[in-house]
Amino acid sequence: MKAVALVKGSGSLQLVDVPEPVLEQPDQVLVRVLQIGVCGTDRAMARGEEEAEPPPGASYLVLGHEMAGRVEQVGPGVRGLRPGDLAIASVRRGCGECESCSHGESDRCYTGRFRERGILGVHGFMTSLIVEQEANLVPLPDTLERIGFLAEPLSTCEKALETVRRLQARLSPRCGHHEHAWDGDSWGLCKRALVVGAGPVGMLTAFLLRLHHVSTVVVARHPGSGPPGRLAQSIGAAYLNIAEAGYAGLGPLWEDLDLVVDATGAPTVAFEVASYLKSPNSVVLLLGVPGGRHALTVDTAALVRQMVLANQTMLGSVNANLRHLRMAVQHLAQFQERFGDAIQQVVSHTYPLEQFREAFFHPPAGAIKVSLTPSG
Ligand code: BGC
Repeated sequence: MKAVALVKGSGSLQLVDVPEPVLEQPDQVLVRVLQIGVCGTDRAMARGEEEAEPPPGASYLVLGHEMAGRVEQVGPGVRGLRPGDLAIASVRRGCGECESCSHGESDRCYTGRFRERGILGVHGFMTSLIVEQEANLVPLPDTLERIGFLAEPLSTCEKALETVRRLQARLSPRCGHHEHAWDGDSWGLCKRALVVGAGPVGMLTAFLLRLHHVSTVVVARHPGSGPPGRLAQSIGAAYLNIAEAGYAGLGPLWEDLDLVVDATGAPTVAFEVASYLKSPNSVVLLLGVPGGRHALTVDTAALVRQMVLANQTMLGSVNANLRHLRMAVQHLAQFQERFGDAIQQVVSHTYPLEQFREAFFHPPAGAIKVSLTPSG
């Protein structure tokens, strides 16, 4: 079968022939891959900007860590999945040594000796069939066949927002409505967020914020009449083309934000937005992973003074655990109920696996999430 792989040495992305996997342990599941997302991490690895590590002894790494597939065969020890079920796999495999990993929280691994499918030391999902342990799979309802793979990037947003909520639970909500406390069910009401970047992570974060009724402004470098602008507006978020308005153009909003999310992966944005933020007790959440190197001149005295005097937090977050993946599956279904087909539009372009070069290197302008489908 064919697989999209990064070949060691040359560092080039190629379609390689790989053997069909077979069940080797009782708790394993054979899954036919239906759809795989291409994300910023995949593109950064393909450009050589982020480390990609083949499995020990292998000369290539099959990429892909966002997948949805249909169970084809299960081992005798598998209890919760049957042939025909839809499922999604998690990405990270814990180090097996640290406290986080031994408590199901490899997303917060202390040693850094974790592996990640399609990224670090284990082949990924950009192929037709994969084998995975049941413990690393989450069932998907049939209604999520086309978009279920989005639960992986969404799970990273879930974890990040959960962390923000835990952190902010120390505060009385500034609206004065105790029922809007950060650790309550209605936490999103009377809250205001700015999402910078309208790629998949920015958009999925905006969906999650809107699901919880947060007043949300999305900014990116696209005209508001383009697909990301229309999509943001269709879920009740405001959208601004930052290329026109500039951050200063957001004016008084900077004094009234609970949360700013940097989902751009651009190296300077976090510090630019942080320097505009005037709201006390607010959080700058960093979700983008910039590649390469970049130096920036910042008035650090002003920035640190502002952050200290306003009790502000800058918080980075990556990956997620199975609990967040399950939350993401539930929320994807709720997005469908609440926002109609808007969530389908996040998957803006789909290509056959063989056209991986288009998907990786030439996505159309305004593309949000690009996915690949193996040909059976
Ligand atoms: C994935 C995460 C992963 C990270 C590694 C992201 O694209 O969603 O699960 O840990 O890449 O950089």
